[in-house]
Amino acid sequence: MNSAASSPDSTPDSTADAICSAKGCRAPAVWVLAWNNPKIHTPERRKTWLACEEHREHLSQFLGVRGFLKDVVALADWSAPDG
Ligand SMILES: [Zn+2]
Repeated sequence: MNSAASSPDSTPDSTADAICSAKGCRAPAVWVLAWNNPKIHTPERRKTWLACEEHREHLSQFLGVRGFLKDVVALADWSAPDG
């Protein structure tokens, strides 16, 4: 009954090893993009993407043109709300 689905080590779900959310990018994230899709999220809900320096603008524009982008915060200054 040993499941192969185990988490690596016991790494907490933190931003300690945050990686850029851009497709194929493995660079360390330095920005947090907070966004909300009003069609599927309640107004106070925040989804977050992580971005490296290179992809911050690209990801911001992707969300921005859709009207989803709410905030861009330096990862060092980001304190994730629960949930
Ligand atoms: Zn990136």
